[in-house]
Amino acid sequence: MEAGHISIHAENILPIIKRWLYSEKEIFIRELVSNAADAILKLQKLALLGEVKREVPEAEITLAIDKEKGQVIITDTGLGMTADEIKKYINQVAFSGLHDFLDKYKDKDDTQQVIGHFGLGFYSSFMVASKVEIDTLSYQEGAVAAHWSCDGSTAFELTESKRTAVGTSIILHIADDSKEMLEEHTLKDLIHRYCAFIRYPVKMGSEVLNDTRPLWTRSPTELSDQDYQEFFRKLFPGTPDPLFWIHLNVDYPFNLKGVLYFPKLKHELDASQGEVKLYCNQVYVADNTKELIPEFLTLLKGVIDCPDLPLNVSRSYLQSDPTVRRISEHITKKVADKLTGMAKTERETYAKFWDDIHPFIKFGMLRDHKFFERMQDHLLFKTAGGEHLTLEQYKEKMLGKVEDGTVIYASDPTSQVAYLRLLQDEGMEAVIADTMIDQHFIPYFEMQTGRKWKFKRIDADISAQLLDSSKSQIVVDANDSATAAEKLDKIFRDNLDKTGVKIRVESFKSDKVPAMLLVDENVRRMKDMVRGNGAMAAYTAGLPDDYTLVVNQTSPAIKNLLKLSQTFNRLEEVKLVVNQIHDLAWLQQGDFSAQMMQSFIDRSAAILGRLGGSDTLLAQ
Ligand code: ADP
Ligand code: MG
Repeated sequence: MEAGHISIHAENILPIIKRWLYSEKEIFIRELVSNAADAILKLQKLALLGEVKREVPEAEITLAIDKEKGQVIITDTGLGMTADEIKKYINQVAFSGLHDFLDKYKDKDDTQQVIGHFGLGFYSSFMVASKVEIDTLSYQEGAVAAHWSCDGSTAFELTESKRTAVGTSIILHIADDSKEMLEEHTLKDLIHRYCAFIRYPVKMGSEVLNDTRPLWTRSPTELSDQDYQEFFRKLFPGTPDPLFWIHLNVDYPFNLKGVLYFPKLKHELDASQGEVKLYCNQVYVADNTKELIPEFLTLLKGVIDCPDLPLNVSRSYLQSDPTVRRISEHITKKVADKLTGMAKTERETYAKFWDDIHPFIKFGMLRDHKFFERMQDHLLFKTAGGEHLTLEQYKEKMLGKVEDGTVIYASDPTSQVAYLRLLQDEGMEAVIADTMIDQHFIPYFEMQTGRKWKFKRIDADISAQLLDSSKSQIVVDANDSATAAEKLDKIFRDNLDKTGVKIRVESFKSDKVPAMLLVDENVRRMKDMVRGNGAMAAYTAGLPDDYTLVVNQTSPAIKNLLKLSQTFNRLEEVKLVVNQIHDLAWLQQGDFSAQMMQSFIDRSAAILGRLGGSDTLLAQ
């Protein structure tokens, strides 16, 4: 027997580790099972090299619980250790800069990540155990089995063991504050969380707890759509089926495997729905590692396996590592490739998914310049008529009908239905931009594409296409030779209760709409932008509403209004009609205040009350 002290240059590192890592004590399972898997892999590699003179045992890791003794035992059929190796790898805790460690990682957040980085993985067992034993037999010819034990102080005992099977057992004497680890379901849950895809079978009794050949390690050619979907369901139970996926498989210049799924987003841009799990050689490391996976890609779901990264990656390590940046760029590129490939060769499918994936694409374009460049020609816009067009196709369609580069959009197809109908009657199209992200995306897109495209909300302007210039000069009163337009202008000015509204009289080709509101695109964008921002909103509240009421003199309602205004004793009704027409136009903008709603209802009732009988409102 040998007794001695674990040589680390701090009096007692174990309590430090224990205290710092306490909140994440369950990671001991990841560390011990991955050590076991490493040991098996090493033995297999040695066997391939012809270095193993005895029979190579079947690869497996077994978990056993001995409730009576209060022990959890993790056994592997790996290469084992000699007493000398235990001294070297376990006792002389092999990290050069303990002082660095203590200095740098006082910050609790980072400590968890750093454990394995400093070769302390094995010692994480002391987070749940008051005493740890190693019982091991090396594969080497003539090796003597060894037994090590340590109670969490720096003192250890090393003796010979009677073990006959090559491999290692780690015996954890579970501490009083971690008794839950003696429950089968707790251990199973932890295996499921950290080791579900480890490459060797992890057994409890006769049950295998893991999938040793997860889908991402297999070749895409041997996989069907169904395999991908099943794997998705296994990873993310209870989530609606994904739309499509990307299988990542890179060997050079770095190793990267994985599958990224495009989920059906329930709410626009709710990043909490996404989940990209990071694995390192099939061992779970973390979720949504920002440094590795660009933020906008965390909307996706799936797994990424980067064997080149250390098992325990610290944030600061990731930030400073150039490979990480390249991996991240590569992932972004692959996602863009998948999307542009689909846009080019499977246009119908692409269009079919568009309504689900466009917030993701726009978000990515806002966040990542390269992604923007790759995607900009493959943006689709859904038209009010239900087609999906690229901007070039839209331009083609609107050729000669709007200024080149102008894109008319509807932000609320329901309330803007009258505007949409006007356009449609003239064979014009508006695109629908009714999601939150469009508000940010449109101005950004215009700027990034050098103002080649000018988006105008459907109520920002009236296209000349909609007007009939031949009708605009009708003279209605020979006495003062005033045109109908001039008269209507005055009628609205005199009778409109709302102040500060600009009046413009036009002759629409269509007679269906009595009046429309126009809101200046720039002023409206500014207001949209600051909505919800208290200080800025107070500032823009002072800005004039800046809208124009466009009166359509070809509409029968307006014609009647003109007549009414020339009829004796109808002034009260003229006022009612003017304000009603204004409110009808306002209604297409969406929001009525409570007060406006009240007067609209009262006025509607008043108008109805005057219909019929001798008091007919709209006298012939
Ligand atoms: P790391 O795994 O980062 O090297 P650990 O503290 O987890 O650090 O393990 C230290 C060393 O102990 C390992 O590198 C390995 O040489 C040895 N070791 C740990 N567990 C086993 C095992 N189950 N079988 C064989 N060797 C092991
Ligand atoms: Mg380890």
